[in-house]
Amino acid sequence: MNPLVFDIQRFSIHDGPGIRTVVFLKGCNLECPWCQNPESVSPKAEIAFYPDKCILSKDCFEVCDKNAIIFEGDKRIDYELCTGCGKCSEVCVTNALKLIGKQRDVADVLQEIKKDIDYYNSSGGGLTISGGEPTLNFDFSLNLLKGAKELGINTNIETNGYFNWNKFKELLPFLDLIYCDIKIIDANKNKEILKGNSPKMIENIKRLSEIDVPVEFRIPLIPTFTSTDENLNDIINLLKTLSIKKVHLLPYHNMGEAKADKINNKLHKLELNYLSQDDLNNIKILFNNAGIKVKLNN
Ligand code: SF4
Ligand code: SF4
Repeated sequence: MNPLVFDIQRFSIHDGPGIRTVVFLKGCNLECPWCQNPESVSPKAEIAFYPDKCILSKDCFEVCDKNAIIFEGDKRIDYELCTGCGKCSEVCVTNALKLIGKQRDVADVLQEIKKDIDYYNSSGGGLTISGGEPTLNFDFSLNLLKGAKELGINTNIETNGYFNWNKFKELLPFLDLIYCDIKIIDANKNKEILKGNSPKMIENIKRLSEIDVPVEFRIPLIPTFTSTDENLNDIINLLKTLSIKKVHLLPYHNMGEAKADKINNKLHKLELNYLSQDDLNNIKILFNNAGIKVKLNN
């Protein structure tokens, strides 16, 4: 079965070298509370509601046969009843309702990617598959990467590091670059906060550090979760053991929270303070003192 694609972003300059098209797949096996793409977590289709655009025409109410349309202040959807069929979004003329996640097949997505092949060639860009965790939609990801390589398109995948290595290694011949997150090392905290499996994720990081395909290890700096002294020291110790000499640090921003609100996702109400420039500089120094170079987003 084809996965749900929730966005295809053209002309991205943040997801690998050059100008890229990023294909975002729904479905994730972690529950990071700071997720920047909360609409990616569920593998199912969801309806987002934008109250500012609603003109109260009630067309949505007429087409919903699940009684899931409600008119309670800024609420329009009863998420207990909604099945994500998308009928309401089709009749909403102002786009106050938007269906997140549409089934697309590989050929159809490749057609979209091909449109910008000249830009990839002139900028050194290409395709990036993201999510969610794209390896959960393994066959789709594999075939999309194969199709892109047949067209001579550069490829990247963004993974959270929680994948089955025996499957993942089948992707390697079709990848030019891998972005892999490093989040929480302590096994109990990893399980409690992310619902992940730290030993398995560490094993994957180790394997990725040994392959020929270039890997960019990315560390989200999330106050109280990942940028604690304890976790940063754990990460640095791991990097030193694996002789990883460079990482990309991604400071927290709360863009995901507004998106989570639109789909009634309660996990992402963090309201954390941003790290100060001094905090970021100190973290950079911590890595540099361990012999690890950092790229730091501001
Ligand atoms: S169809 Fe759209 S604009 Fe009309 S009431 Fe429903 S959400 Fe609001
Ligand atoms: S997506 Fe379908 S079930 Fe959900 S509110 Fe819209 S019409 Fe009703």
